[in-house]
Amino acid sequence: MPKRQGSLASKPARPRDAAPPSKTAAKAEGSGEGSAPARAVLGDRGAERVRGGHPWVYEGDILGLAGAGPVRVEDRRGRELGVADVSPRSKIRLRMLTRETGAVIDDAWLRGRIARAIEYRKKVVSGSDACRLIASEADGLPGLIVDRYGDALVLQTLTAAMDGRQAAAVAALEAELKPSVVVERNEAKVRLAEGLELRSGLLRGKTSQVECSINGLKFGVDLLEGQKTGGFLDQRENWAAAERYAKAFGARRALDVFTYQGGFAMHMARAGAKVQAVDSSRAALEAADANGARNGMPEIDWVEANAFDLLRDYDERGELFDLVVLDPPAFAKSRIAVEAAIGGYKEINLRAMKLLRPGGMLVSCSCSHHVSEARFLEMLQAAAVDARRELRLLERRGQAADHPVLMGMPES
Ligand code: SAH
Repeated sequence: MPKRQGSLASKPARPRDAAPPSKTAAKAEGSGEGSAPARAVLGDRGAERVRGGHPWVYEGDILGLAGAGPVRVEDRRGRELGVADVSPRSKIRLRMLTRETGAVIDDAWLRGRIARAIEYRKKVVSGSDACRLIASEADGLPGLIVDRYGDALVLQTLTAAMDGRQAAAVAALEAELKPSVVVERNEAKVRLAEGLELRSGLLRGKTSQVECSINGLKFGVDLLEGQKTGGFLDQRENWAAAERYAKAFGARRALDVFTYQGGFAMHMARAGAKVQAVDSSRAALEAADANGARNGMPEIDWVEANAFDLLRDYDERGELFDLVVLDPPAFAKSRIAVEAAIGGYKEINLRAMKLLRPGGMLVSCSCSHHVSEARFLEMLQAAAVDARRELRLLERRGQAADHPVLMGMPES
């Protein structure tokens, strides 16, 4: 339950049968935060989508829009669907903030949502001081992403409205968590579609180099230089799962392909495996090596190589492992790229399967949301057939619980 809930205001006094505002009536003064008359009237398709649980409304599904601040969203018969933020420049024109009718969107509402997101992480994240604290729509805060690394916070504001609330969000986060460092990483290209500039930098504190602890292992993070916002927090629970399997099956030799900063590699090393870890990025491997040193694991072999070449070479040389992890970057960044991506996934998985000793284990990941789980499993079986291996599916996993998925918006 939220610590504080948005206060309820009485419904704006507007007769039900009033005509929808015209599209040209869109310019209201100020943000409208805290006041109410701003509203949007949706066509049937948009209303149905919102009722179905999706938080976005596209420009073309809006019959009328008046006001720039949070708007009361209605269907064409005047029935209220909730309150939404407006993105005046983006095709995604509205993002639902709440389905509560008459809700007032102000700083207290923002603080309440932030507090609720933090409370939830306290329940689902343990043994780590790094996690995603706020996951945009999935936390009812469209456009706001906040990651925690130790006592540092990394913030992204990806919509025009959320960008306008950045200072208030930082103040709320500071009141809740007293971070020593706050960084903004507002370089995501989606900001351009919102008419926002790209920027990044330190908002509080003196350094972007911090340390955090994940599953009891120490990681160094450069909050301004790392990929994404500095790490791959969504894999935290999967790292722990790989460690459990490595331990339970007594894996002696393990290969971590696409290691980045050594997450899987260090977990498998802690389980007692002799680990080789591969990445094509020298910078990532230097960070991984430093992480290995932080955790007293100098024996991990960090290999700079193209994964496709290395897997082929190892296959030809007859190298064998008890456990192979594949965690490539998203091969399918768009829907059109899916078939090519499947080809890439199949190639690395087929090679990896051939590197497994009998009874060996494959941990195979995909972060391409355009490739469905069913399609991915189908690809794995096709690779197994070609590699002449019989595969058993032990477990299907997803992202960690601090990265929840809004059911009405599978892409979240
Ligand atoms: N397994 C990591 C995340 C991997 S992200 C974790 O759990 O944190 C993907 C990584 O693949 C990046 O570090 C990137 O440098 C690396 N990469 C991308 N293309 C590659 C290639 N062709 N060969 C090897 N590494 C590659």
